[in-house]
Amino acid sequence: MPAMDDFLSLQGRTALVTGGGRGIGAAIVRAFHARGARVLFTFRSNEAAARALEKECAGTIALQSDAAHLPSAEHAVARAIDAFGGLHIVVASAGIARDRVCWKLAEDDFDAVIDTNLKGVFAVVRAAVPHLRSQSGGRIIAISSINGIRGKGGQSAYAASKGGVIAFIKSVARETGSKNITANVVAPGFIRTDMTADLPDDVVQKAVSETALGRPGTPENVADAVLFLASDRAAHITGQVLHVDGGQLM
Ligand code: NDP
Repeated sequence: MPAMDDFLSLQGRTALVTGGGRGIGAAIVRAFHARGARVLFTFRSNEAAARALEKECAGTIALQSDAAHLPSAEHAVARAIDAFGGLHIVVASAGIARDRVCWKLAEDDFDAVIDTNLKGVFAVVRAAVPHLRSQSGGRIIAISSINGIRGKGGQSAYAASKGGVIAFIKSVARETGSKNITANVVAPGFIRTDMTADLPDDVVQKAVSETALGRPGTPENVADAVLFLASDRAAHITGQVLHVDGGQLM
């Protein structure tokens, strides 16, 4: 057994985190960096937040890159391998929400949500797996949502994208397991970030009242679960969906 301090060590590992500039992705970047990993993270448009995090976590690389674009994902993977000499951990966290009941949801909004949230997971996995296979090992973790399991009124596109992520990652787990690659999903419940900052009070109260713990989650709560799945301690866990929701969905 490693010493307690090294229990979740990522020393010597390199990681790519999509959507790492803010919120849950940024908490994952911080958690990985604190455990010794070298991290490249992508962001879409908020360069100020990304550069501040890059500075805060010395040695980390922030790359502007659209998660939904396969050539950009391939470039991000190549950049991480080039800069760090390898890639061991891939986290797909980039995500957007466009909330409307289905009969008022614009086609462009539906496409944007599916492109970022579902195709974005495909793109980074598609880009990284050949490398992970060639080194016979790796960790893939995608951020879904409990609403991808239960469905949610006003979030049909979002829930569909997140449900798709679960089916996709379980398939990836089956396809890559023989090469010692694990692929898992973290499904957060209500977490306080910019994404949920503008929700009306009654929606927030309802989400919190659904939880057994009676409180919203933090980005750090989600990052801790991702850290565990990325670590050696999760070596025999694959194809799983880990809820980080304070008991919101059970
Ligand atoms: P935020 O809105 O706080 O942050 C989203 C991040 O994703 C930003 O860094 C943003 O970049 C990046 N991003 C968005 N679109 C793209 C894109 N096309 N390419 C690259 N990066 C992109 O969201 P959260 O931290 O709350 O969410 C993170 C993940 O967790 C998402 O997948 C979300 O669906 C999921 N989730 C969140 C929950 C919550 O309650 N907050 C609950 C369940 C799941 P930029 O900074 O440049 O805009």
